[in-house]
Amino acid sequence: MSPEEDRIPVPERGPEERTDDFDEVPLGYSPEQAMEESERCLECAKSPCIGGCPVEIDIPNFVKAIAEGEFKEALEIIKDTNIIPAITGRVCPQEEQCEEVCVMGNVGDPINIGKLERFVADYARENNLEEVPEIEKNKDFEVAIVGSGPSGVTCAALFAQNGYDVTMFEALHEPGGVLKYGIPEFRLPNEVIDHELEYLDELHVDIRLNRIVGQNIELEELEEDFDAIYVATGAGSPRFLGLEGEDLKGVYSANEFLTRINLMKAYKFPEYDTPITDMEKVGVIGAGNVAMDAARCAIRMGADSHILYRRTTEWSPARDEEIEHAKQEGVTFDTLCNPKRIIGDKDGWVKGIELFECELEEPDDSGRPSPKVLEDTEHKKDFDTVVIAIGQEPNKVFYENAPGVEVKEWGGIIIDDENRMTTKEGVFAGGDAVSGAATVILAMGDGRKAAQNIMNYLEG
Ligand code: FAD
Ligand code: SF4
Ligand code: SF4
Repeated sequence: MSPEEDRIPVPERGPEERTDDFDEVPLGYSPEQAMEESERCLECAKSPCIGGCPVEIDIPNFVKAIAEGEFKEALEIIKDTNIIPAITGRVCPQEEQCEEVCVMGNVGDPINIGKLERFVADYARENNLEEVPEIEKNKDFEVAIVGSGPSGVTCAALFAQNGYDVTMFEALHEPGGVLKYGIPEFRLPNEVIDHELEYLDELHVDIRLNRIVGQNIELEELEEDFDAIYVATGAGSPRFLGLEGEDLKGVYSANEFLTRINLMKAYKFPEYDTPITDMEKVGVIGAGNVAMDAARCAIRMGADSHILYRRTTEWSPARDEEIEHAKQEGVTFDTLCNPKRIIGDKDGWVKGIELFECELEEPDDSGRPSPKVLEDTEHKKDFDTVVIAIGQEPNKVFYENAPGVEVKEWGGIIIDDENRMTTKEGVFAGGDAVSGAATVILAMGDGRKAAQNIMNYLEG
């Protein structure tokens, strides 16, 4: 490829250095590197990249502003539709979205849109380029948002920017949803999230923490106090396999494992209160992004870390970058195996997993070859910790205590596709609570659409 066809590489910390701590792995572009990468953009008239972004950022124009060294202008263009670019620039599956349809991809590497977005947000933060306009509260309506993940945050910001009074209710003691409790700091540092969320404070959004709607505050109370409610409670309920031994000590859902490590900082125990079991050999069942996060955390906790997957790595639903990073850091991929049961010792602690071997057959509904379990292939592998990372479902506490709000069989809240209202008047919903586990940017897109629909509803 000619130099223009190649991407400017993003510097990152080497595997030996980074597995001893939870600091970020990719280091990000310098201004010169970002400008050089931006100059590769063809400024296409039809700009398919915009359609590839769920919040339709004006990509050619922000990239052009970078190429011209106008970083503040680039930030303003991005923030027009995306209030948390330092986050999406780091965690969006860009290769399946804006970058997948980038025209440069036809002749070489697509423009590194995600990393450029991250550069702009980081540069603006480090150089105090951000300005928050003082917005007059000029609307008579009060809106409640339930859940402070990316969907709730996006919706809240739009209301505040449009002069509404907004109050956000969050079950946990810190805002941010999965960004804070799920995604590890080596992919998304907490200080980056905190900075992006400060924007809500500056917009005077009232964030009330430790408020579980449906448990210590009822939906009816919110309905009395607010004119409309947006529910973005996410998909934080772990799925289990229903295997013998899943209740043994040392077996975690990925959610619990990651929350202990990321939100409660178990890796700093006893400086922080929450412990996690001493681990020597960890088996992570599953091969999606959540499984990669858990396996890479286990490596940083000093363990020998294994992904246990019933297909081969090429069929893993995780991003290529995550698989690559996990391999570089020493995670072992045990593929074509399916757990039969988790084995415990006499004191109820995990000591291993019994597995079947598998082979791949014709594709299933997901388009991937279906794994067939092979009879009489049982074999045992030793593990002292097992993490189940096979997916999440919508959180039950809200919908089980929200009379009138109906859900699908699997727990997704039912909404009207047109106006995004649930089956209860004045209560709207979006993000993972409706779609099931998806992505940050899709949850944000839902937050935007909901805000627009709720404003239409309130203002007739
Ligand atoms: P969430 O982020 O789940 O936020 C919901 C919030 O609602 C939470 O803070 C929760 O505490 C709160 N809540 C729940 N019930 C109540 C209640 N009853 N009352 C009050 N508050 C309540 N996506 C990507 O795009 N890229 C990635 O790299 C990526 N990595 C991931 C890694 C992990 C480990 C996980 C679990 C997910 C990952 N995802 C990733 C998916 C992405 O994080 C989610 O799709 C996204 O966060 C969904 O946003 P949300 O606002 O709908 O819900
Ligand atoms: Fe691409 Fe995500 Fe940024 Fe949109 S928000 S431009 S999809 S990286
Ligand atoms: Fe630039 Fe790619 Fe968008 Fe074309 S498709 S404008 S090359 S980012």
